[in-house]
Amino acid sequence: MDPNTPSAAAFSGGTPPVRPDIAALAPYVPGEQPQGGRWIKLNTNENPYPPPAAVGDAIRDAASGRNLAKYPDPLATSFRKQAGETLGIDPDWILCGNGSDDVLTILVRTFLGQGESLRMPYPSYILYRTLAGIQGARCHEVTFETDWSLSPLFTAARSGLRLAIIPNPNSPSGTLLSKEWLLEAAQQLPCPLVIDEAYVDFAETNCLDLVAACENVIITRSFSKSYALAGLRFGFAVARPQIIEQLTKVKDSYNCDTLSIAAATAAIADTAWLARTRSLVIATRTRLEASLAAMGFSVQPSQANFVWCTHPDKNHRAIYEALKQQGILIRWMNYPGWGDGLRVSVGTEEETDAFLAALASILEQL
Ligand SMILES: *Cc1c(COP(=O)(O)O)cnc(C)c1O
Repeated sequence: MDPNTPSAAAFSGGTPPVRPDIAALAPYVPGEQPQGGRWIKLNTNENPYPPPAAVGDAIRDAASGRNLAKYPDPLATSFRKQAGETLGIDPDWILCGNGSDDVLTILVRTFLGQGESLRMPYPSYILYRTLAGIQGARCHEVTFETDWSLSPLFTAARSGLRLAIIPNPNSPSGTLLSKEWLLEAAQQLPCPLVIDEAYVDFAETNCLDLVAACENVIITRSFSKSYALAGLRFGFAVARPQIIEQLTKVKDSYNCDTLSIAAATAAIADTAWLARTRSLVIATRTRLEASLAAMGFSVQPSQANFVWCTHPDKNHRAIYEALKQQGILIRWMNYPGWGDGLRVSVGTEEETDAFLAALASILEQL
């Protein structure tokens, strides 16, 4: 039959059916982003400080004249050149995205086919599961040990295993797996290992040099956390040029806009700003950890810009709700089959003081 023959059963109204994979998908729920009002936002790991001043100038420049009438550079060449210089790598090893979530989407679409498997740790970044679901792929989640290490199950062979992703530092724990462990894991896995370094600028080490050391390692980075540019949407991957070439086929032609390319280029050049902001955040993080521990919380030492804590006898959800009543947002995370706890982003000194004061009085009442 001619596939173009008009169908006798024309669309009959109602909600058009979607792919069964999509209908069955649990939507990814990001942290609350209240619009308006005066909130102390410690729930989505944004940087509490303003971005480098050069970012505003770069955006104004990029928006001038007829610049925005033209399509952006599809390969974000100016950014890749500057990032290559700052990080000491070849620009051909970099692929840019509309936030690192876009880069993760490109990776999943490139490596994972329908019915194939993604390996990821649990609990970690739930978005990976959603991305695999959209692909019609499966997730094979390996639960962290009690000390936040991963057992050899993580690198075990499995038919259909095509991609592994580990956030390092991990969210919600803020813990870091060692470079030695990750190198060994990459060598044992039968597929690419993506190390999601969204928070790595707050950590003691990073795995950038593993990309050169090991053919199946891919790194992703974000401008949303350490560079204080979550509203801009910019991220990138570092991988061998042979991999970048394949990823480039999958990405949208113009996945990064002119303004974000200009802004990210200015931001990554300002290494002094990053060093300053990083040490401010780490100093507040240390104080936050100590104060939570003094209030009876069990606190996981963090390598990121947030702290994961649990209380032995208070209800975590009730604490989250009571703080919200007072205009302070943190994240109550509940992982089925694993447990729940509270994730608190590192704010300014003042925000952290307000949070700690509110928390102390709430604990007395609960
Ligand atoms: C925040 C976050 C990202 C997303 O970053 P964007 O660049 O804003 O898309 C990626 N991975 C992890 C683990 C994150 O927490």
